[in-house]
Amino acid sequence: MGSLPLNTFNPLDPAEFSDESHAVIDFIADYYRTVENHPVRSQVKPGYLSKLLPKQAPLFSEPIDTILEDIRHDILPGLTHWQSPNFYAYFQANASTAGFLGEMLCSGLNVVGFNWISSPAATELENIVMDWMAKLLKLPPCFLFSGGQGGGGVLHGSTCEAVVCTLVAARDRTLRKIGHDAISKLVVYASDQTHSTVQKAVRIVGIPPANFRIIPTSAASGYSLTAHSLRAAMEADVAKGLLPVYICATVGTTAVGAVDPIRDLGEVSNEFGAWYHVDAAYAGSATICPEFRHYFDGVELADSISMNPHKWFLTNMDCCCLWVKKPSALVDSLSTNPEYLRNKASEANEVVDYKDWQIALSRRFRAIKLWVVIRRYGVINLVEHIRSDVAMAKQFEKMVSMDKRFEVVVPRKFSLVCFRLKPRFEGDDALSINQRLLDMVNSSGRAFMTHAKVDGMFVLRFAVGTTLTEMRHVEMTWKFIQAKATDILLEDV
Ligand code: PLP
Repeated sequence: MGSLPLNTFNPLDPAEFSDESHAVIDFIADYYRTVENHPVRSQVKPGYLSKLLPKQAPLFSEPIDTILEDIRHDILPGLTHWQSPNFYAYFQANASTAGFLGEMLCSGLNVVGFNWISSPAATELENIVMDWMAKLLKLPPCFLFSGGQGGGGVLHGSTCEAVVCTLVAARDRTLRKIGHDAISKLVVYASDQTHSTVQKAVRIVGIPPANFRIIPTSAASGYSLTAHSLRAAMEADVAKGLLPVYICATVGTTAVGAVDPIRDLGEVSNEFGAWYHVDAAYAGSATICPEFRHYFDGVELADSISMNPHKWFLTNMDCCCLWVKKPSALVDSLSTNPEYLRNKASEANEVVDYKDWQIALSRRFRAIKLWVVIRRYGVINLVEHIRSDVAMAKQFEKMVSMDKRFEVVVPRKFSLVCFRLKPRFEGDDALSINQRLLDMVNSSGRAFMTHAKVDGMFVLRFAVGTTLTEMRHVEMTWKFIQAKATDILLEDV
């Protein structure tokens, strides 16, 4: 075991930085070459790691090769391999060479651009890249810095942060008019398909949990929230003396990939004066393709919209784009101006200080990552990336519908297919056979899928889209699912 004498300790020695970074990059490249050989979902038991690692931190330095060897032996078996081509669970977290290079630049330069003066290029590049992204998604000018209407965008780490910040802005916009004591009158609306982030945000910002309305959806509307049911819920609350403050619509819901009618919900929301947020965390990336853009029709009625390049846009974790029509609403709620941050540019109101558009003060230079991704791949390749995943999902959906034992439960819109083994007889809820099928596939290590519950049905989710997935992986996984289904159905005969 090696050790460095204290008098040579230089944690940022450029030569050592170069040598050891190369060792890590070689390690990761080797990981990508062999990732397919690992069980996709980790098969370890809880607590496995404390049996392998020392109880105490080392007193002396250890060489990087030793650390990498331990990662290979002890850490990799405890990972669920999100970059495996056979990962079909949750939603994909796309890694890419450009995303990694951008992340390296972000991490290597390690600037903390909380206000403009703390790193002017970090702020200005973020302004530019947010406008680039907005144009790729064909968002209306009201969300762009260059749109001349006061709008603009910011990079957060996650949709959860974006939702908390916009809900805080919505809360304060209303409470400034009616008094802060009236917080118990505010009501937030979402559907039973909306991501749980909204429920969490309601708790965080102090709106009573009882004032969070989860409006049911059904198969008839493709599990999207209808304007009619939103209006009914809002009218009932207003009749009780309550105040609709925030509604979250979704393009590409987590469970089944449903799309809410953005224009219809926006009209209702605007009528009631509520803040209208559109969450396109997963499917927003698809709207760079003209054939998916119509799902955003009416987005000009929204106050804010967010999507995650760290899901389906080849941008390594973490990266969430949030655009706001009136960023001043965020600033009014989130700005603080301690003496130690005062500077001429901020005081002259000439610059964006992103610390006032987010929760934390410190912030990462995420813009450089997204900028490298867009430049390195170009729009043509990014569009192709989305289309090829959608084509594979389409093919998977076709294969499922050709096997009479299965059914596609929700018509596919993007790259997520929701399916199940059909009930075998009258009154069979098919729950146990589908649960068993999922367990068998996941515990085999050959592929990893997750499930959802819709209308009381246990549904298998097959989310196509890791960067390394090819049609051969989808075909092999489908054959494997079919074979396991045969085993289960035979067991029950
Ligand atoms: N919204 C939707 C529709 C999602 O699918 C997800 C994650 O899957 C989220 C929000 C949460 O995103 P984040 O992890 O960036 O907070």
